[in-house]
Amino acid sequence: MRSPPETSELDTPSRILMGPGPSMIDPRVLRAMSTQALGYMDPSFLEIMDDIQELLRYTFQTDNEWTLATSGTGTAAMETAIGNIVEPGDTMLVPTNGYFGNRMGKLAKRAGGDVVTVDAPWGEPLDPADVADAFDEHQPDVFGFIHAETSTGVCQPDVPELTDIAHEHDAITIADCVTSLSGVELRIDDWGIDAAYGSPQKCLSCTPGATPLTIGERARQKIENRDTDTGSWYLDLDLVMEYWGDERNYHHTAPTTNFYGLREALRLVAEEGLENRWERHLEVAGELRSGLQELGLEPAAEKEYWLPSLNSIEVPDGVDDTAVIDYLMDEYDIEIASGLGALEGDIWRIGCMGYSARRQNVACLLTAMEDALEAQDFDVEEAAIEA
Ligand SMILES: *Cc1c(COP(=O)(O)O)cnc(C)c1O
Repeated sequence: MRSPPETSELDTPSRILMGPGPSMIDPRVLRAMSTQALGYMDPSFLEIMDDIQELLRYTFQTDNEWTLATSGTGTAAMETAIGNIVEPGDTMLVPTNGYFGNRMGKLAKRAGGDVVTVDAPWGEPLDPADVADAFDEHQPDVFGFIHAETSTGVCQPDVPELTDIAHEHDAITIADCVTSLSGVELRIDDWGIDAAYGSPQKCLSCTPGATPLTIGERARQKIENRDTDTGSWYLDLDLVMEYWGDERNYHHTAPTTNFYGLREALRLVAEEGLENRWERHLEVAGELRSGLQELGLEPAAEKEYWLPSLNSIEVPDGVDDTAVIDYLMDEYDIEIASGLGALEGDIWRIGCMGYSARRQNVACLLTAMEDALEAQDFDVEEAAIEA
């Protein structure tokens, strides 16, 4: 018989999370999540689900009936959207300007789709003219794009222009709003987005595990008219909606406490007001951006498409990106992240999301960053004068 391993009671370090996610959890969400479980058919639990749906419609700015929380992380919602909308033989257009556009393509392929791409360099948004050209060339059935690309810190502008192009070609649009939902202006219905998903652990400051998803009328019709069943039984929206909708059929056990937490996180959005929340992210991240510039650092994303919830900052010549990341963690308990994929070693990624997006965190980070740069013999004053 194996003997039990030696462990101690949970005792985690106290970090300030300013990376690409998870962000810090709002204390009210933590309290809600320590509430005792209810059965998945308990009328009180079904009411919690109704609240989540209504609060999500507000947060997404949509009237979509199919608005729900997927059991799983952001990728589960991404796979739900793509796996249900893309049928074998469909063509899906995805962008090449970041890590998560690439992931969209991988999921479309698994769903039996043919994947075509529209190009832009990493660190730049898509140009609507290039999207129009890609539509003329490939006539895709589905167009996926990333509203807030967490790998590069780019917020895609001109979203209504992109969705117009898609609709002129009778294509369905899927938007990844994981790092924008509740942190950056986003209007699902006004902007013509047919399907979108967010994330609880980014600007909503909840735990990962129950992920916002909304499906509009066009996308729903495509799903309901599929010739073949969706490849995943667990993520099959027709079946999942039998539980979220009026039938209330058991499909799988809802992640109980994640729903408690998500409901509270969404109530916090409603209390603050969506527009105030967008403004807070702009303001606090604006202080971060200008504070870093005063240290002589350069933002990697142009102001027109800067993403306040994820700030990409160029690593100066002669500075070791991971040494700075380690210093912030070891000396200040602050988490930031390195670049991903094509930008590894070139940028730092500093999140400013939800409960983490507070002035006290920015002040602390700026002090810590100055210290970390000086420890690397980077002349902050000299660089600031040059900048
Ligand atoms: C974090 C993220 C995801 C994936 O979410 P997980 O919760 O890690 O599965 C997808 N898209 C973008 C843009 C992200 O930032």
